[in-house]
Amino acid sequence: MIQVDQETCRACGLCVQECPLGALTLEAKKITASPACSSCGVCSKVCPHEAITVYKEAEPGAVQCFSCPVQCLVREGYSGACKRYANKKGVLVRNRRLVEKPLADYSSPGYRPLITGVGAGTTYPDSKPAPYIVSRKVDDVELVTVVTEAPLSYSGIKIKIDTNFHIGEEGARVRRHGKLVGRVTTEEYGSKMLALGGVNLLSGETGFTVARTIVDLANKEKVELSVENGSKLEIRIGDKPVIDGRQDTRMRIGCGSATIGLFARRLKDIVEEAIILDHHIIGLLSEHPAGREVGMKYSGITPVGRKSTVGRYFGQAGSGWGDTVVENPAEAVAKVDMSIARAGMRLLVTETTGRRAALLEVTPSGGLREIPLTPEVVDFMHTLAESCEESRVSGIYTGGSGGSARAGVTDYPLRLTRSVHSGEVILTVGGAPVYILPGGGINFLVDVEKVIPRAFAWVPTPATVAPLEYTMTLKTYEKIGGKTEYITTVEDALRRGSGERVSY
Ligand code: SF4
Ligand code: SF4
Repeated sequence: MIQVDQETCRACGLCVQECPLGALTLEAKKITASPACSSCGVCSKVCPHEAITVYKEAEPGAVQCFSCPVQCLVREGYSGACKRYANKKGVLVRNRRLVEKPLADYSSPGYRPLITGVGAGTTYPDSKPAPYIVSRKVDDVELVTVVTEAPLSYSGIKIKIDTNFHIGEEGARVRRHGKLVGRVTTEEYGSKMLALGGVNLLSGETGFTVARTIVDLANKEKVELSVENGSKLEIRIGDKPVIDGRQDTRMRIGCGSATIGLFARRLKDIVEEAIILDHHIIGLLSEHPAGREVGMKYSGITPVGRKSTVGRYFGQAGSGWGDTVVENPAEAVAKVDMSIARAGMRLLVTETTGRRAALLEVTPSGGLREIPLTPEVVDFMHTLAESCEESRVSGIYTGGSGGSARAGVTDYPLRLTRSVHSGEVILTVGGAPVYILPGGGINFLVDVEKVIPRAFAWVPTPATVAPLEYTMTLKTYEKIGGKTEYITTVEDALRRGSGERVSY
């Protein structure tokens, strides 16, 4: 099904790396395709030397799939490029059964599709009805659920990494296998954020890697990424992140100022001053309003950092204490004013994660010397550490449900969009509730950990594939001009989809 021009081929191996079915091998500088090849065309598109030609010629036993624009030719015993459709004895079947999540398994009665889109398959072109449109009476109300596995070019994933570790500058490019897949975006409280995918990257030169990365992450696979001028990341949603080979275990309690706000009363009883190091805000206990609130007076010590407001100093991101550039505790102090400070004063230097702590004593000459931690300070450090949450990786899949996902539901797409926004139609993704962005379109966010496991796929158009469910009353479905003539029962859909009740 593919032909490699061995004269033109430079044996770079890019096609081997990108083939979604692992159908290519490179041996003795020669590319060979196995019968698993489905003529999807990825290899010929990524070949920089145009050495590969793809043919879609009929052959005995092979079946062509028309469920997306790729139109794979699938040999008997093999699957198409998205791995969703398989040729079983000359018949193309969706190789995952349609999933019905029992209604009792949903935590909120408002978000309960009658069946999920997982295993539903895709109808193409968009004008055809969605693969399954089912109805059932629930609590005396006739409900309808319309499901499809929608290929979404407008899709991506936001990755939240709960860590104080500096991973790179905001805006820095993020790559997988050297290919651009996204960017570091605005840091959230105690978490670093990545925005991966989106239509411009999906439709760009690295689109196949982008699609694969979004789907691997959404399906909770481990993925290695590198940040331009920053860190190497090993991440899997639900796990602790590994950053430059170090696993992070603890998320900061807050910035240095927040830490002082939380613990000023306790700190006042055990030290005369405290500097809480943090790459965002460094806190100085005696000057901070929370320190003053508990009766402290300014100690004469100035911490490193650029002053923001009283007791709050901007830190500089680095790999030192509190993920600042401070490499040892004495560097946390910029100045000691001995007209205010006094010899013997004890200064606690620590971090917002409570990992490290040092106790420094002011000497008569205004210097600092490290002394052993007192039992009270050790006890405080336990409290600070135990107040931190666990570091973990989370993921929010983002999608825009435009073409096929609406056309399969109704002939009046705007009515569907408006009903989703008004709440008359409930959209779920693989059984999980979504957040619909305000404004135009059906742009949604979904926590991938709430979606039925391994529900996402990708097709080499390229686009990611998400299981969508639209649930509403029959009355609403009629009102929005739904394809009511295709309504069947849940039982019929499960029989056609070889479905069984599956609890997740
Ligand atoms: S056409 Fe698709 S399946 Fe076949 S070898 Fe190329 S990339 Fe792999
Ligand atoms: S990639 Fe498209 S054409 Fe190929 S098997 Fe999947 S749905 Fe069918």
